[in-house]
Amino acid sequence: MSKYVCVECESLYRIKKNGIEAIMMLNGVENEIWSADLWECPKCKRQLIAGFAKVPHHASFSPDFQQELERIYAKPKGYKKVIQT
Ligand SMILES: [Zn+2]
Repeated sequence: MSKYVCVECESLYRIKKNGIEAIMMLNGVENEIWSADLWECPKCKRQLIAGFAKVPHHASFSPDFQQELERIYAKPKGYKKVIQT
């Protein structure tokens, strides 16, 4: 299991939620959907996303991409957007 340390308060991050949807944004548009894990610092509550699957489970060219996005957006706590810069 990977370990992540909060540099601010020197605490080990803990898993907050397994299997969130990480929506990759490219130029302001949804591009890919990945399964990943949400971690949180128990002290200061900063969060990070790690533990990405090997491949995205949907991409913009998938026939049901919009349907999948709608399904995900219906559960606001189940996803995070990731801006690629
Ligand atoms: Zn912290």
